[in-house]
Amino acid sequence: MYLGPSDNSESEAINIKDKPALVLNADYRPLSYYPLSLWSWQDSIKARYLNRVSVLMEYEQTVRSPSTEIQIPSVVVLKDYIQPKRHLAFTRFNLFLRDGFSCQYCGGSGNLTFDHILPKSLGGVTSWENVVSACLSCNFKKGAKSLKQVAFKLRTTPKKPLAEELQNMGRKFPPNYLHKSWLDFLYWDEILEI
Ligand SMILES: [Zn+2]
Repeated sequence: MYLGPSDNSESEAINIKDKPALVLNADYRPLSYYPLSLWSWQDSIKARYLNRVSVLMEYEQTVRSPSTEIQIPSVVVLKDYIQPKRHLAFTRFNLFLRDGFSCQYCGGSGNLTFDHILPKSLGGVTSWENVVSACLSCNFKKGAKSLKQVAFKLRTTPKKPLAEELQNMGRKFPPNYLHKSWLDFLYWDEILEI
């Protein structure tokens, strides 16, 4: 069955033109906060036909096939619970997320890079405990010296985060656009403060 968007919007990467659906796990919490779990309208309609999700909220817009007109889901919930990932990859992105996208020496958030606390040249390893987010300026000042040598202090003690901790951190960084129907299912720190 062919389904064409009624507003002729293009559908490549998922952006708001794609009328994405917020995807909730079976416990009604977002499948992922960062990045926010979103499906394109094509995927959410397909999942509904395959009976993998229930539709909780809909956009006003519809898509048409030759025989029927379907309202585009804006919030869907999975019928089967998906166990969140336990293993966290040691990636640049997860490291920045752990550190809240801020330099662990000065707290700045511009020109973020990462730094070996104990420099590699002094035997420092690349690990959750020895690598932190650092701005270019602090990174430059520190160079291949130890913390003591440059009198730098860490804002937090770096360690391997739990998956849940990273999820909670992700909640602090909502995307630029949130559809109003999603707000009841998201608990962004910013929104709770209002
Ligand atoms: Zn800095």
